[in-house]
Amino acid sequence: MSVVDEVKQRLDIVDVVGQYVQLQKAGRNFRALCPFHSERAPSFFVSPERQSWHCFGACGTGGDIFSFVMKKENLEFAEALRLLAERAGVTLAERRPEEEAERDRLRQANEAAAQFYHRALVSTEAGQKARQYLEERGQDLKTMQDFQLGYSPSGWDSLCQHLRERGYSDEELVAAGLAVEGERGLRDLFHQRIMFPITDMRGRVVGFGGRSLPIEGQEEGQPKYLNTSQTAVFDKGGLLYALDKAREHIRREGLAVIVEGYMDAIAAHQHGFANVVASMGTALSERQVRLLKRFSRDVVLALDADTAGQEATLRAVEYQDILGRDIRVIILPEGRDPDQVIRSDPEAWPALLADAQPLLDYKFEAVSSALDLSQPRQRSQAVEELLPLLELIDDKVKQAHYVQKLTRLGRLEAAKEKTLHDILRRRARQPRRRSEAAAKIEGEMQVVPPRDAREEYLLALLLRHPELQADGLALSPDLLWYSENRQLLQAWQRSPDLEEMRQAVAAELQEHLQRIAAMNVPPFDQQGAKDALYDCLRRLEQRDLEAIAQANSAALAAREAEGGPISVEELAAAAQASRSGSLPEEIRPEEVSETAALLRQSTEIGIRLHQSSKIGTSDDKDFAGNGPEVELNG
Ligand SMILES: [Zn+2]
Repeated sequence: MSVVDEVKQRLDIVDVVGQYVQLQKAGRNFRALCPFHSERAPSFFVSPERQSWHCFGACGTGGDIFSFVMKKENLEFAEALRLLAERAGVTLAERRPEEEAERDRLRQANEAAAQFYHRALVSTEAGQKARQYLEERGQDLKTMQDFQLGYSPSGWDSLCQHLRERGYSDEELVAAGLAVEGERGLRDLFHQRIMFPITDMRGRVVGFGGRSLPIEGQEEGQPKYLNTSQTAVFDKGGLLYALDKAREHIRREGLAVIVEGYMDAIAAHQHGFANVVASMGTALSERQVRLLKRFSRDVVLALDADTAGQEATLRAVEYQDILGRDIRVIILPEGRDPDQVIRSDPEAWPALLADAQPLLDYKFEAVSSALDLSQPRQRSQAVEELLPLLELIDDKVKQAHYVQKLTRLGRLEAAKEKTLHDILRRRARQPRRRSEAAAKIEGEMQVVPPRDAREEYLLALLLRHPELQADGLALSPDLLWYSENRQLLQAWQRSPDLEEMRQAVAAELQEHLQRIAAMNVPPFDQQGAKDALYDCLRRLEQRDLEAIAQANSAALAAREAEGGPISVEELAAAAQASRSGSLPEEIRPEEVSETAALLRQSTEIGIRLHQSSKIGTSDDKDFAGNGPEVELNG
């Protein structure tokens, strides 16, 4: 048995969740006010049988003990596993000691390289120009020391030679990302660059960013920025520059600021704004944001007004996770980066931060300022560009707000607003279209095994059929209840290639990945694979519906136990109120009635099952005991 299974077997979800929220028995389920969104009536359910939790309210999501703890404690999967394993008394096999020793060795090589580069910067003739360049940009010796800035000399293999003398093998130098195989043997990766050592959260050097040194009268080296490539210790998407120095400040101030460049972060720290980290020039990754959210809820992204900066956020804005995470954005004055702003007028910085606006508002502005909205054609282009982003908003209230905003921006007549809602609904991902499958709900209710074959089959299909990439990338990981499967889906979405996936997946899940990769999948043609995928999605959707029906029936049983019979209408209304309690009035009545109709459908089923189960049982309070409802869960 894998450690993941072992932990699941030893811990009861009711105990784990019960430590965070006040659970109330409701039939065979437990319910509570959702710990992840604010609500007046409980729509958060825990099923001991399935060992799963669900919020049927605004969150509309669920999972197992791991995903609960990850969400509640803001942890990565591997961390949640460690925490729960400890509680369950399951010993995790440490990473093989040799492996850990190898990684240490790579970090040490990087540290030795940082020292070599730093010495070259501050005390060699060759580093003179680099030093001068940094001084011109306001960096004194103390800053160069604090950030261990360096200079990589021009020689073919000066660093290699230096490290070989210290006992590092050629293999280690390549594995550490410091050297590459060249025509004349091993050569240094970095030449004539200003070196920024990149550290992990514990301050250990794991890689470098190197900026080519602009020398007057010479063409600048290409590329302008060069990074260590992925190594066993350097994973760019999971690192933030200067986080080791910033983390305590971020926690204390309750605010993290992300800038793009190394120099920007350094300038901020120099001027006492120590809650600043740098994303190292690429699109912000979901992992980077998650990392920061562990220290502070409030994250502000500071962007240059130039296109490069805007491009980076445009990409960032497409991450569903980032959208859901309430990042705010500031745009710096045209032509200036944070470095320049902070140096010329340090007091302007806090004021700029105070004006940060939500990511989506920023995106609205970016799109509308790039287009001429007096032209009907361009207006519809703006709507086309922005609408897909609204699909990514899970929070219905928020979504409705932006639909209105889009209606205004596109100068659509009020009637069109409903059309937008319709389009959003139609485009909503397959598993969310409840109405169709709601009709089938009575049909095939199946046993939900502790391991879900449907989820695993879905993953196997994606692995075996690369042509499903586009469909697979559109799937929400929340679709899967089991954290081990959710992790694999996320890893696949980041790198839809088995080899890369292996590297991205926690050691504890390797076995699971292997099993799924070895599953038997028919050699479908393209259409066949697509059909199989959508069939799979439909069956997963059905499972969601089962859970809703069961929760409703349990809620009903509980209500009845508290105070007598209750009409279907009343219950449907209550359920609907708990779902959309805070919906603003602008929401179309059609929308509300559709939701109500769906809820009523499932409620009615719940009632039928509940009544028939009551006939079969005594007056014990566990109304949802025996009888036909058993079919719901097997
Ligand atoms: Zn919730």
